[in-house]
Amino acid sequence: MFHFPHLFAPLDLGFTQLKNRLLMGAMHTGLLAQSHGVERLAAFYRLRAEHDVALIITGGTSPNFRGRLQLDGEELSSSRHLKSHRVLTRAVHEAEGKLVLQLLHAGRYANHPLCVAPSALKAPISPYTPHALTRGQIQQLIADFAHSASLAREAGYDGIELMGSEGYLLNQFLCLHTNQRQDEWGGELANRLRLIEAIIRAIRLAVGEDFILIYRLSMLDLVAQGATLEEVVQIGQAVEAAGVTLINSGIGWHESRVPTIASLVPKSGFSWVTGLLRAQLSIPLIACNRINSPELAESVLARGEADLVALARPFLADAEFATKAARGESSRINTCIACNQACLDRVFIGEVASCLVNPQACHETLRLLPAVSTAKRLAVIGGGPAGMAFAVYAAERGHIVSLYEQLPELGGQFQLACQIPGKADFAETIRYFTGRLQALQVKLVLGQVQDGHALLSLPVDEYVVATGVTPRIPDIPGMDHAKVLTYQQLLREAPTLGKRIAIMGAGGIGFDVAHYLLQPHDLSQEAWLAQWGIDTSGREPGALLPMEWPASSHTLWLLQRKAGKLGEGLGYTTGWIQRLQLQRAGVHQWSEVQYLQVDDAGLHILHKGERKILPADQIIVCTGQQPCDELATLLALSGRPVHRIGGARTAIGLDARQAILDALELAMRL
Ligand code: NAP
Ligand code: SF4
Repeated sequence: MFHFPHLFAPLDLGFTQLKNRLLMGAMHTGLLAQSHGVERLAAFYRLRAEHDVALIITGGTSPNFRGRLQLDGEELSSSRHLKSHRVLTRAVHEAEGKLVLQLLHAGRYANHPLCVAPSALKAPISPYTPHALTRGQIQQLIADFAHSASLAREAGYDGIELMGSEGYLLNQFLCLHTNQRQDEWGGELANRLRLIEAIIRAIRLAVGEDFILIYRLSMLDLVAQGATLEEVVQIGQAVEAAGVTLINSGIGWHESRVPTIASLVPKSGFSWVTGLLRAQLSIPLIACNRINSPELAESVLARGEADLVALARPFLADAEFATKAARGESSRINTCIACNQACLDRVFIGEVASCLVNPQACHETLRLLPAVSTAKRLAVIGGGPAGMAFAVYAAERGHIVSLYEQLPELGGQFQLACQIPGKADFAETIRYFTGRLQALQVKLVLGQVQDGHALLSLPVDEYVVATGVTPRIPDIPGMDHAKVLTYQQLLREAPTLGKRIAIMGAGGIGFDVAHYLLQPHDLSQEAWLAQWGIDTSGREPGALLPMEWPASSHTLWLLQRKAGKLGEGLGYTTGWIQRLQLQRAGVHQWSEVQYLQVDDAGLHILHKGERKILPADQIIVCTGQQPCDELATLLALSGRPVHRIGGARTAIGLDARQAILDALELAMRL
């Protein structure tokens, strides 16, 4: 008896069966650019297939050279490309899974000067103006897609997914904003749809009927002159008639200024639109975006919004997601917190993806934790992300681990982070690691401040100091004034605040604090959609309405010393959202600030050389961190090895991703 009956119901596609409704959506991992990348990617897919994912969709591969995402990006256009693909399909089939190749032509989003598009119109997020495709090139493109699909079949794939959303080439043909052609490929919707229909028909002819063909349909373009819901339904009906097996949901173009997968997006916040389409179509539909638990996935299916769900990042966070769900053990799942810090943000800077809460992801052949032959007795001091993760990894290897935390609960900085709007899921990471610590019988000593000398007398072989960070306090007069609070005091003690607040420091924490002050709780889905101007009536082109940003009742100043834009160091995929939110809420974002003093009048500063007094009721200090590592020096007196990880090792450039990675790397060495 399955605990999630809709999720674990098989799906019969006629010529093949899916064992459940849980798919792994396409993700770029960056692995193929690495040495032994194919083997690493095969290991990554194999592990997920072994753990009951019904069908895996690969990262995007272009059907020809000009459609590559980068000049050295992936392409399947010749039989000499088949060898590496066969490694992937074999690995997944050995694990009794199914593998579908995503065919993605980047169009004007290709990051190279040879890019092509329906019209020569540059994307706001690209440095290159594309060449408008000639009619002859369009005919060749159709042939290229069909050829690539037949090669995919030859390589052993179970199907292909045609990337028709997120603003890539096929989506560019559909949208008036990017398709201004005057010929039979532009103008009225039937013309803009012609290429997609022709490609699907050509692919069907090339691969036959018994091959999965998924079309990723842009259900909400979220760009100007995008499709209305009526047009989306017409497109869905056309691709269905042309011969696709399944329709996947695409939400927003890469250039749209509406968040679609960041942590502040409500859970399963877009499955409603898949539901609207499902009512109009006959073939099965796949919902995606911000579905990160079996409960959510089940509820999307139970509400009838979709026939299947595709999750991507949750399978980085936990390769065993599907197996644990099937066993009714969802409390054992390591939950994706939608931070993007170790996955998308890394891929965008050309690095291999991984996962903040699971640094073994995409490193299945490298970051191993083999059982030890001689167990060591290890004392871990500090129960934040680094300490908890280390204790789990070391205990998994077979070491005998004790964990000492001075607060009554585990979690460290994550206890603070989960109070920030959109970050409640950080509590899931604490839940996951706590569960693992208990299952591995790690001795937990909580709520006791550890006297260094008592620690020295512990019967252990080695110490691991994971005591984290303390806030850095700028050295100016008045920092002991009652108005001054550290961000830790703000979040731990939730004091009563005035309406005028200055935030010293505009790093990740300064921005988080500003959001917390503006809107201490998560919005309802309805309010969130209205805030970001997303039309749910289906009438507006691109589903875009003016954003409804409520006026803030607070006056906030967010300050930094350096010149330039605030928030430069924020995540690549999330920083723009954070900056836009504060801008809309009217937060004063000032750079080139010199802090002078705090007194009853407020915060005295020099701003671009001009003396000012900010009449702040509170001043929140978010000016970075310092390692909290005194214990390490004392413990070294024991003569036993002392290791520092996370903030206790370095506070410069530290974030949770680095802290948990530190923990894993030390556990691999010990
Ligand atoms: P941070 O990002 O390094 O920012 C520290 C801020 O303090 C900067 O604005 C810095 O800019 C200022 N500052 C540094 N030294 C100062 C001094 N002596 N006096 C006055 N101001 C000073 O650190 P954080 O905000 O504490 O965040 C800690 C880590 O957590 C970071 O790695 C951060 O990326 C991560 N984090 C990430 C997120 C996220 O959403 N991705 C959220 C929270 C935290 P100036 O020197 O120009 O003033
Ligand atoms: Fe999810 Fe963050 Fe891991 Fe990416 S890095 S998979 S967003 S938890």
